[in-house]
Amino acid sequence: MQPSDLPAPANRLSCPSCGNDSDFYEIAEDVVITTHYIQNQDGSFTPEADDSQILGEIKLICGQCQEDLSEFHQRFSEMLF
Ligand SMILES: [Zn+2]
Repeated sequence: MQPSDLPAPANRLSCPSCGNDSDFYEIAEDVVITTHYIQNQDGSFTPEADDSQILGEIKLICGQCQEDLSEFHQRFSEMLF
């Protein structure tokens, strides 16, 4: 990413209902989590890899007033790093 691509502070996402701009929840529905385990010599298991597959919707929820902010989810995803 180039420095010019960094968002200006004015681009901060905030909740239209309560103005919250710090606390958000992402909720994924119908998630299938598959974990690959290797059994060790002593009979214990070590997780090797896990793979989660989201079959349902992903919602973005305001952490203050629980407003559904899913319309902002794509923007939220682009700002995850
Ligand atoms: Zn809110």
